[in-house]
Amino acid sequence: MSAETYDVIIIGAGSVGAPLAWQLAEGGLRTLVLDQAASVGQGSNKTAIGGIRATHSDPAKIRISLKSIEIFSTWKERYGDDLGWVQGGYNFVAYREREERILKDLLDIQKRYGLNIDWYDRDAMLEIVPALNPDGLLGGTFSPGDGSASPLLSALAFERRARALGAGFRYQEPVTEMLRDGERVVGVRTARGAYHAGLVINAAGPWAREIAALAGVDVPVQPDSHEAGITEPVAPFLRPMVVDIRPIEGSANYYFYQHHTGQIVFCITPAPLIVGTDRRETSVFLPQVAQRMVDLMPRLRNLKVRRTWRGLYPMTPDGAPIVGAVDGVQGYLLAVGMCGQGYMLGPGLAVYLRELIAGTPGEETREIFALLSPQRAFKGQEKLK
Ligand SMILES: Cc1cc2nc3c(=O)[nH]c(=O)nc-3n(C[C@H](O)[C@H](O)[C@H](O)COP(=O)(O)OP(=O)(O)OC[C@H]3O[C@@H](n4cnc5c(N)ncnc54)[C@H](O)[C@@H]3O)c2cc1C
Repeated sequence: MSAETYDVIIIGAGSVGAPLAWQLAEGGLRTLVLDQAASVGQGSNKTAIGGIRATHSDPAKIRISLKSIEIFSTWKERYGDDLGWVQGGYNFVAYREREERILKDLLDIQKRYGLNIDWYDRDAMLEIVPALNPDGLLGGTFSPGDGSASPLLSALAFERRARALGAGFRYQEPVTEMLRDGERVVGVRTARGAYHAGLVINAAGPWAREIAALAGVDVPVQPDSHEAGITEPVAPFLRPMVVDIRPIEGSANYYFYQHHTGQIVFCITPAPLIVGTDRRETSVFLPQVAQRMVDLMPRLRNLKVRRTWRGLYPMTPDGAPIVGAVDGVQGYLLAVGMCGQGYMLGPGLAVYLRELIAGTPGEETREIFALLSPQRAFKGQEKLK
């Protein structure tokens, strides 16, 4: 049987691959998505807690996330699916001068790239989030345009829309080989057969390095694991995502919000990072995060936790994604290394990638991809990664 031929093959139906298929199909490209899992969003996507913010320190991430927020916030109106979108904002709190300084220093660049964000002093912050512990609170930033939505509902909606525009999705088909013609990638092989395409996109998340190796490319994406949890539902009392960036022994930061169905959903960044692909829950996480959350918001002390889980961040050395063509390899693009923000970046990135792939990138698109280039030096550090 001869190989099927497409304009684009996307490896990975996750936070990046699913919205990308929608955008490319909308741009008229014959698109196929291949995933090793049994359905959409089963990799890191479904382990995300659903936070969507343009509150970053990197200009590319600010712009991409603002584009994503446009998509998440108008999806229901445009296409009818409820993604669980809630525009509750993000609130980074400061209880020490160190965090106050970090957050205030970022305001300039954040505002320059179009983010609606400001510093609020203690009393103003307590009006926005009355449940915060007032003792020692100095204030914090609030960005009302940020929000949250459901990663699985979103992935399903992107897939549905992509399929309606002609894109194909094939599951339980791990990609095992890259088909090459000299320096050009011309397709992929799975256990079920071969597929040809003018362009193959690696959107394999935490598994991106293995997929890149199939094309002879070494990409510095290293998976590390993060735990999250969810409580029983209670009456609404908290609108924004609350983020505390104070590092203490065992954790670099933590964040939580109240889901629109009432549960508190929470997550921690372990310190040191737990590198690798182990996804078994630990006994350390809950006592550690619970203590921090109750200190910050004492009324959480009576809530019962229903479930915890552990998922993978596809980390890069500087905390920014790696997106674009690789020198010396034609017909191949990387859309990998989303770190802890792939869900919020996915749809916006898809819009900019569509423009890049169509060969008509505007100035903003060129600036974004220059910052995310696989050929960059990986020297800086995203401050709010
Ligand atoms: C606890 C936790 C909380 C998080 N919270 C947030 C949050 O609030 N907001 C946010 O934006 N992000 C959050 N993240 C990060 C987010 O989940 C990731 O950045 C994002 O899902 C990565 O998207 P991706 O498309 O690159 O990878 P994935 O979504 O994992 O997609 C990659 C896909 O590639 C497939 N694949 C792999 N190898 C192969 C192969 N050989 N052949 C075919 N298919 C293959 C996988 O099956 C998978 O479906 C969180 C992560 C964790 C762990």
